[in-house]
Amino acid sequence: MSKSKKKPSLPKLLHNKIYKTGQTRGADDDLIYQNRVIRNSTVLIPYSYYEACKVAPDNEGIFENSFIVLINPEFYFSTKQVDKILKKQGLRLGINTLIFYYSREQWNEFNPLKYKLESANSRKSPLGGQYVARVPATTAAKGSEKIRHGFTTSKLKGAGIRVYEYASTEIIKKCRLQLEYIFWKCLDAYKVVIDQGMTKKQAKERANYIIQLAKSSSLADENLLKNSRIIDLNGNTVCPLCLEKISAVGFFNKVKQAKGREVSDLTITQLNLFHIKELRIGQFNHKPYNLAWGHHHCNIVVKDSGINETLIWMNQVVEKNRKYGFKF
Ligand SMILES: [Zn+2]
Repeated sequence: MSKSKKKPSLPKLLHNKIYKTGQTRGADDDLIYQNRVIRNSTVLIPYSYYEACKVAPDNEGIFENSFIVLINPEFYFSTKQVDKILKKQGLRLGINTLIFYYSREQWNEFNPLKYKLESANSRKSPLGGQYVARVPATTAAKGSEKIRHGFTTSKLKGAGIRVYEYASTEIIKKCRLQLEYIFWKCLDAYKVVIDQGMTKKQAKERANYIIQLAKSSSLADENLLKNSRIIDLNGNTVCPLCLEKISAVGFFNKVKQAKGREVSDLTITQLNLFHIKELRIGQFNHKPYNLAWGHHHCNIVVKDSGINETLIWMNQVVEKNRKYGFKF
């Protein structure tokens, strides 16, 4: 198939869902993180995790938009020759390191004014200051309102992303391709996209193109996909937790909210991006063969604890209920 010819587009909802897998989760203004941005943005590394996180997963270990190390004021101001220690690790305050205030106690005890520090306002070196603050309001009492210094303007909201959400442009692209490939392995994928407005010919052309591209990019290894709980023994896409076959309809349906518990975010759909090995600091788990499509509900159950831990817990719950004689 020629590269120059434009491939038929996916239905918009599906396209958006795949596209958004390259973005980070949300963060409100009271957090230090950017809100839903591309995963290759500047990463924020807590100082205690610097050694574990300093090497990017690809690109010769370099983060595409660099990193900022966040250091506690307690540590910074109570450590002798702290700048020397940091320098040995390649860290410099205001260059690639910031003091991060997140509690009232820190703010009161090590107030940046006392040390003539300025709040930072650049994600690129130099950072334009030496500290950043996100201190929540405590009570209604005077002097306890929330403190937000640094990276607060609409153009520059948030200092960066959670380091474990990082992925390079190349990895983001591969993940999107594999996730579309997995979509086409849903039992009813063709029928559903045709219901959603693609012609039979367009669906076939698009699917063939993606399948070939995934294969030639080493993103279609059946055994790896099976062992990772992404597809079942028949090669159909399954939810990694409950192992039910995934219907492509779920890419287009909204979740029905329980009465009285309506959530304002209507973008919650039945299927979610699922990380097989959960995202956790010290690892870079947004990568091919670790991403699947799973039920929104199953995803919530697994949350950040991981599939194995969740299964062990579920098993304990069931056994305990049986032991007590409850029938279900
Ligand atoms: Zn499920």
